[in-house]
Amino acid sequence: MSSSSHSFPPLDPPARLLMGPGPINADPRIHRAMAAPLVGQFDPVMTRYMNQTMAVYRAVFECDYAQTLLIDGTARAGIEAVVISAIEPGERVLVPVMGRFGHLLTEIAERAGAEVHTIDIPWGQVCTLEQLETALKTVRPSLVATVQGDTSTTMLQPLAGWGDLCHQHDALLVCDATASIVGNTLPTGEWQLDAVTCGLQKCLAGPPGVAPITLSPAFVERVNRRRHVEAGIRDTQDQPQAGPRIGSNYFDLPMIMDYWGERRLNHHTEASTMLYAAYEAGRIAVEEGLAAAVSRHRLHGNAMAAGVEGLGLALYGDQSTRMNNIVGVRIPEALDGEAVRAALLQDWGIEIGSSFGPLKGKIWRIGTMGYNARQDCVLMTLAALEQVLRRQGHACPQGGGVDAAYAIYQRAEEGAVQ
Ligand SMILES: *Cc1c(COP(=O)(O)O)cnc(C)c1O
Repeated sequence: MSSSSHSFPPLDPPARLLMGPGPINADPRIHRAMAAPLVGQFDPVMTRYMNQTMAVYRAVFECDYAQTLLIDGTARAGIEAVVISAIEPGERVLVPVMGRFGHLLTEIAERAGAEVHTIDIPWGQVCTLEQLETALKTVRPSLVATVQGDTSTTMLQPLAGWGDLCHQHDALLVCDATASIVGNTLPTGEWQLDAVTCGLQKCLAGPPGVAPITLSPAFVERVNRRRHVEAGIRDTQDQPQAGPRIGSNYFDLPMIMDYWGERRLNHHTEASTMLYAAYEAGRIAVEEGLAAAVSRHRLHGNAMAAGVEGLGLALYGDQSTRMNNIVGVRIPEALDGEAVRAALLQDWGIEIGSSFGPLKGKIWRIGTMGYNARQDCVLMTLAALEQVLRRQGHACPQGGGVDAAYAIYQRAEEGAVQ
């Protein structure tokens, strides 16, 4: 029997409002950009687009680092490229762990052969500068890896002063800003971060699948010590360096930098469609202005937080260090958190998140990110949540969520008028 088109139906995704911890609904401008025709990878048009993408992401990362480029793959591809290229087996790495993504950094560094030391912070809190300093003195790592916004706990790690402190102790500082960038302030240059990685699917309003990264001159110098160009593309100027070869070909940053640089050495084939997406996402952020984008995320995050409290629910974690773009909500004891999420999705087409590890079944996570950091998305989610809670037998103040959110918007408008 031959397969008919009937046995392979087209994918026909339903319309959803994605209000979880990411991915979120992509800005339609990005979908349009992705429909553009392909050009060859060494077409001057394409190499110009690559240079323009580097420039737009220097603006997004707020730095002038020459090596600002894309790693093809989801956000963790960027993390993996940075960590595996920077660490030689046996080197000491320090990771403050305060949520799921600190564990991920630990795991990636361990796989790269590092001797990993952690600062274990209770979930829902952040790491202090003093805790970092103590650990730097005792561990003496060559690299510190941290997360700016750990979506699993909704906490935002303050990073001012971290770069300077790490450098005083001869360590480079690497930061995963996937969930925080554009929704929270991240002046990479001013804070002297040595490598910052992210993805598009949070506040950058794009789909998952590509990882913009930026690398300081000191970081580039470090990874170039292990520059080994693969045999098939090497020429006489490419003498093997002394250090052991980087443990991954795909994530070998010196080779990737040669591809993005003037030599255009053919490493992989750039994922052109994802580059179109990344460029448009960066352009949207710069067009809005980073300060304005952060304020917008703060406003809608605050409206969501107030709305949730207006429904009589409790927020999770220290609110003074919460990310602008996501709130954690304690699931009331009597309720089945998964049943609430299922009803929101089935009846209202709205997705919110659960969490991991010690927070599994304990909190929901509601995001207001990127294209969905908007008043209509916030009000719709709160109105739907109230109805779902009611139907599951949980009493909540009628209209309490929407009213509390409206109050935040009204106050913001009055503030803007004055
Ligand atoms: C969402 C998120 C990621 C996502 O990584 P992917 O590889 O794109 O799934 C990474 N880091 C943090 C802190 C995140 O919140």
